[in-house]
Formats: sequence, structure tokens, C-alpha cells
Amino acid sequence: MADHRQSAREAIRTSGFFSDDRIASSKFVNPEQPGYVGFANLPNQVHRKSVKKGFEFTLMVVGESGLGKSTLINSLFLTDLYPEREIPGAAEKIEQTVKIDASTVEIEERGVKLRLTVVDTPGYGDAINSKDCFKPILSYIDDQFERYFHDESGLNRRNIVDNRVHCCFYFISPYGHGLKPLDVEFMKALHHKVNIVPVIAKADTLTPKEVRALKARILEEIAQHGIKIYQMPDCDSDEDEDFKEQCRLLKAAVPFAVVGSNQMIEVKGKKVRGRLYPWGVVEVENPEHCDFIKLRTMLITHMQDLQEVTQDVHYENYRSEKLAINKRRAGAAVALGHSGPAAVSAAKEGQGEEKDKILLEKEQELQRMQEMLARLQQQMQQQQTTQVAGANNVQSHHV
Ligand code: GDP
Repeated sequence: MADHRQSAREAIRTSGFFSDDRIASSKFVNPEQPGYVGFANLPNQVHRKSVKKGFEFTLMVVGESGLGKSTLINSLFLTDLYPEREIPGAAEKIEQTVKIDASTVEIEERGVKLRLTVVDTPGYGDAINSKDCFKPILSYIDDQFERYFHDESGLNRRNIVDNRVHCCFYFISPYGHGLKPLDVEFMKALHHKVNIVPVIAKADTLTPKEVRALKARILEEIAQHGIKIYQMPDCDSDEDEDFKEQCRLLKAAVPFAVVGSNQMIEVKGKKVRGRLYPWGVVEVENPEHCDFIKLRTMLITHMQDLQEVTQDVHYENYRSEKLAINKRRAGAAVALGHSGPAAVSAAKEGQGEEKDKILLEKEQELQRMQEMLARLQQQMQQQQTTQVAGANNVQSHHV
């Protein structure tokens, strides 16, 4: 884990969001000109191969309807992800079950491709009884793990499409006094499966003091219920002070209080994304008005970390659980002396997956050995060069 956290740190440092002049101002400002999201900096975080192929990321948005999820997503990625969305009426909502809508867009910025999948969950919390409404979401996340697990064990391992959910923005209503029972239930059920980033929706409906109070209350409740939300990686103690300050500000902003808008409004001769009220304009990308820029900075600069935590923690949990279940099933079938096709297939499945695991471990070991060999070769070459240089020195001394 430590290694990828290190690379995430490197990513923040090298990302355009934290270029020197911005660090100097020590404020979160809109990174570049309008119309620029910022993922053109992703090559700093990933291998060149991934850059050529495109960067894959899946973001899930969950929260009651009407909290501004689609507006925020459109504002974040400057693209209309839901052009044909139908909004159901109250009557339809009574019995509504949660749907899962995955939309994929390819966004290209300065030659860098991002294949972004946004998974929306319309109907969440809408029905009269929303007790089980997170179950379809849970199954969706597990299905993606299952698909990955299956593909990983297959022959075409190098070309797997990664549809696992890397991050989940959980929208909390600004109108309550903290978390609702459903919020707690959802987060408790999913925090071991996905990186949850809580956000306070429609923050323009609250005064700054109310935002601070609601944030404190939500964090208190999160701790009280033992909920594990996504933790941004820590800064090293030897990082420079401005950089540490940026990390501190990002962490202190959780849960991010956001505002979204699909409208461009002219403010002091400049077109900005905002919401026009009789008393003024709420600017989405103004850090004094809300945490939108901080949320976007967090997402872009920690994209790799979010993927790696998904792989190393959430997927690994899923994989080991699955292997343990298969093993138990196979063992039970053998212990019962079953010899029917179901028992054989359970045993085979268990054995097959165990074999795949061993194969994968062997492959990783081989890779480690190859790396060690390369390092040894390099050392030997260096030694040879120093010896030759030493011999040359001796010769020139003699002359
Ligand atoms: P969704 O159902 O969660 O996807 O919500 P929508 O994005 O469709 O937004 C529902 C309504 O809230 C729309 O009328 C939006 O214009 C409005 N809305 C969206 N974002 C905000 C916000 O940040 N603040 C306020 N006050 N209204 C918003």
C-alpha cells in the first residue's frame, strides 16, 4: 500500500492543480481556463501504456433524487451525461425500485483520453419503504468484482476492461440535521466494498456557519457508527509546507459541500458556471462559495489512489472471501460424500480458482525475480564501469 500512496503523492505534486504559483497563493483556484477539467495531468499518475489506451475510471453517484447529482456530474466533467433522462412523478416513485444507469463517455483533453463511466442510481430513497434500496447497488458493485475476477482468471488477462466502481459520491441532504438512517445503513453496508466520498448537496441553501455545523455533525455520526469513508493519503513529514497545507485543506473539507449548475452566467465581465438568485450569483468554481473545486481536485489528483485502494483493499476482500467460500463449498461437498454434478462442479470451481490464485502468485513472483535480476545486472555494469575508470586512472598516473 505504501508504494501506491507514494505515487499518489507524486501525482498531487506533479498535477497542474498544484503548480508552484498556485501553491504560493495557498488557495484552491479554478485550475485553468473554463472548459478544462484537469485530467490532462493524469499521465503523471499512470504508465504510458494506460495513457495510450486511455484512462478508465468509474464513479458512482448515490443519493435521493433531486439532490443535484446529475447537475454536479455535468458540472464536474463539462458534459451532458444524461441528455434523455426522464424524471418520474410521485405516483411512480411510491413503488419504485432502484435502477442502475451506467453511462460511459470518452473525454479527451490535450490528447489524454479518459473513459469515464458514471453509474447513477435513480430511485434511491424514493420509495415509501426504502429499507432495502441499497441492495441493487451492492449487487452491482459485486457483479463488477465478479466480472473482473472471472476475466482475471481467463486467458486474455492483459486486456481486461476494468468496470469496478472506484469511487462513490454519497449525496447528503442539506435540509436535515445530519445523516438520515438510510445514509447510515448505506454507508455501513458499502464501506468495505467501495471508496465512499460523502458530499453535502446544494450547499448554497446553507450559510457558511450552517455548513460548518452540518459537516461537524456528519463527521461525528460517521465516527459514531464506525463508518469508514475514503481516506486521502497522508503527506510525508519532509514535504514542503505549502504542499502539506493543500493536503490539509482537502482533508479538512470532507464532507465536501458542493453546488452544481448547468448555467453560465456573466459576473464582472467573465462567464462563470453559477446559480443566479435575486440577491446575487453563487459561483460553482469559487472556493469562497463552495467546495466544488476541492472535490474536483481530490478526484483528479487521487484518481490513481482511488483505483489502487479499490484493487488492493476492496477487490482483495472480495477475492479472498470468494476463494474461501468456494473452498468451503468444495470441502462440504467432499465431506458429505456427494458425487453428483453439483458437488463436482463446486469442487472444480474451488480448485480452479485456487489454481488461478497460485498461478497469479507465481506470475508475480516471476516478475519480482526479473526485476531483481535487472537490478543486479545494473549493479554489475556500474561496478565494471568504476573498475575500468579506476584502471584508467592508474594508467594515467603511471604516465
Ligand atoms: P438529481 O435527481 O439528484 O440528479 O438532481 P438534479 O441534478 O436533477 O437536480 C434537481 C434540481 O435541483 C434541479 O432543479 C437543479 O437545477 C437543482 N440543483 C442542482 N444542483 C443544485 C445546487 O447545487 N443548489 C441548488 N440550490 N439547486 C440545485
